[in-house]
Parts: sequence; C-alpha cells; structure tokens
Amino acid sequence: MNCDLNNIFDQFPFLNRGGEKVIYFDNAATTQKPAVVIDSISDFYASGYSNIHRSAHNLGFIATQKYENSRSLIRQFINAEKSSEIIFTSGATESINLAANSFGGNIIGENDVILISEIEHHSNMLPWQQLAKEKGAKVKNIPLNHDLTVDIDSMKKELNDSIKLVVMHHLSNVTGSLQNVKEVVDIVNGLNIPVFVDGAQAPAHIKVDVDSLNCDFYCFSGHKVFGPTGTGVLYVKGKHLKNMSPYKMGGQMVSRASLLNPEWAEPPLKFEAGTPNISGVIGLSAAIKFVENVGIEKIISCEESLKEHMFCQLNKIPKLIMYGGEDKAAPIFSFNVVGIHHSDLSTLLSENNILVRSGHLCNQGLMNYLSIDGCVRVSLAFYNTINEIDQFIVVLKKVLSFLNK
Ligand code: PMP
Repeated sequence: MNCDLNNIFDQFPFLNRGGEKVIYFDNAATTQKPAVVIDSISDFYASGYSNIHRSAHNLGFIATQKYENSRSLIRQFINAEKSSEIIFTSGATESINLAANSFGGNIIGENDVILISEIEHHSNMLPWQQLAKEKGAKVKNIPLNHDLTVDIDSMKKELNDSIKLVVMHHLSNVTGSLQNVKEVVDIVNGLNIPVFVDGAQAPAHIKVDVDSLNCDFYCFSGHKVFGPTGTGVLYVKGKHLKNMSPYKMGGQMVSRASLLNPEWAEPPLKFEAGTPNISGVIGLSAAIKFVENVGIEKIISCEESLKEHMFCQLNKIPKLIMYGGEDKAAPIFSFNVVGIHHSDLSTLLSENNILVRSGHLCNQGLMNYLSIDGCVRVSLAFYNTINEIDQFIVVLKKVLSFLNK
C-alpha cells in the first residue's frame, strides 16, 4: 500500500475481486467504483425507486429529495454559491455542448472570437468550433508557454472587443498538469469576458473550488471521480443562467406550455428536460461522499508519493520521452519510447495484465503540438500502489527488451 489507506482495496469490488489480478492504470479514461456507489444504485432500484419532480406519492417525494440532496452536495463539493448553479448532465461532453449551445449560442455572433487553448480534449474543442462555424465566428488558439500552460503575456496581446469567450481545461488528460485558470480568469474577467473551464479530470485528484477560481463555467464527469457513467455536472455562475436558452425541450423544463409562448421552468430544471439519470445522480452523490470521507488531502498526499515514484522510475528508462513537465497535479504520465510504436507497447502491457491507454488520447491538438501521432498513457488513482508501479516497471523493461530485439 502506498499510504495508510489500509482497507481501500476492500472498498472497491473490482480491485478486490478474485481471479487473475490486473494493474489498472487507465484511471484518466475512467475510475473503478467503490461498493458504496454500486450499492447506492442497486438500493435505489430495489427499495426506493420512483420518478422525480412529478409523482404525487411519497416514493416520488423521497426520490426527488435524494436527487436534490445530491445537487446540494455537489454545490458544496465544488464550493458553488447556489444549488441552481449545478446542472446535471450525462457527462463532461454533454456539459460542454450544453454551454456551447445555450450560452455560446446567445452571446457569439458574426466575426466574434472564441479564444481556446490548442491542447484541449476533443470534447472541449469540437462544440466550440461547431458553434463558431454556425455563427460565422472564429476560434483562435491561445499561445502556450513551454510547460503547456497558457502564455499570459501573449494572451493579453490577443484580447480585444471581438473576444467573447475564453475556453480552457483545468487538469490535462495527457500530462496531469494544471492550467493557470485563476490567472487567466483574473485578467479576462476584468474585461467582462467569461471563462469556460473543462474540469473533467480534476475532482478525482484536487480540491475544486469554483468560487476561488472565479470561473464562469466548470464541468466534470461523474465516472472519472469514482461515480457512475452517464452522469456529469455543469456549473454555471448564477449571473449567466438568465442568458441561457434551454438546450433540450421536454417534460419538467417548462412551467407553462403553450403553442405561442411557452414559459420555461427556473434553472436548473430548465436545462434538465425529461426523466433524468436519477439512479446515476444518486450514485454520483455516493461517490462524492466517498471522496469526502477519504478526504481530498489524503488523496493528494497518496498521489504525491505515487507521482514521485513513477516519475523517478520512468526517467530511468533509456530512450523514454515523457510529455509535460515534472509539476503534475495528478499521477498521469504520457510517453513514447524511441523506435517503438505506442500501440505495440500498450498491447504487450495489456497481455501482461497492465491496463493503460495509447493513441492520441482524444487530444490531437496536443499531439500536433508535440509533433507525435500518439503516445502511451499511464494514469493512476489514489488506490494504486508503489508495489504496482514497481511491477509495471519490471514488465515495461521486459516488453521493451522484447520489442528492441
Ligand atoms: N475533457 C477532458 C479533459 C477529458 O479527459 C474527457 C474524458 N477523457 C472529457 C473532456 C470528456 O469526458 P466524457 O467522455 O466523460 O464526457
């Protein structure tokens, strides 16, 4: 065990299952689920299942309460001011599409510019590109520093009246490093330019505080923070909610439906048409409680030792090129080994029960920036161990010597 979380393996049925052991180093793609999350979903279906916000019976009231309690828990988890600022979605991807359509669609016009870092995950690039295309606007890249953070001085030179929105990520899915969100927000908010932050990778590794970041929008996916798939969050600073049109039409998002003049429900329900993923949201709240019970400080300190050890071990491998700087907020490592294709490496690792990802990592912008077509990504969570890193390094060396023959 890497740190004193003695029974953490026992809390994850996948990590603690019988049969052939695998080393799961693909946490940036998705995290494993603790029993409390799995149980909360099955308990809901087994003993408290109902639709929400509509039923005229006690079961429905209780389900609604659980769903809305999850919203207040998440408000508190990311330190938002009001629960109405928390919109449930199916994941970070839907959160970004929602913001691009409902907010971007109302504020972006012809010849306007959206400033975006060129190293965004495809989910945080394509919706903004599409929006710009539809509106006759432009997407312009923010220049970067050597360490892949936004180059503030160059960004300042780009700022003018046509810039209507700045878009960036918080924690990179490729390098595990943080962007300088707060610095960017401080500069552009003074010019009344809102900032959208893709935080998909962040809450499993760091404390997210939207109040202190002072960003206008923030999103993440439940499944990357030990919660169920099909759940996500879009945080919208209260003052923007009234400038947003509905994203999907349907039940519960309308307060008075009429042929000519429908009136929309108040946010957040205005953005949650139809029967939502009730069990997923309940599972997400179990995941957030789980993180809070472990303690984010504990998670950070466990990951600190994992980061250090992995960094040091990978650096000893000849001809291994690691991308991004040493200063990581999460134990996410992407690399290539000269002369070896990344997919050969990941396939052989998988044959040795070490599960990683390879390819462009849905971030072709960053791959182009680094002049590579892909890489291997090894991404850890706090439940991984120093022992697993050591086993991985032994296998990596074995596989490399086989491929070098
Ligand atoms: N942004 C980043 C930085 C990501 O890493 C991911 C998922 N890999 C996404 C957005 C999209 O998340 P999802 O697929 O859960 O919607």
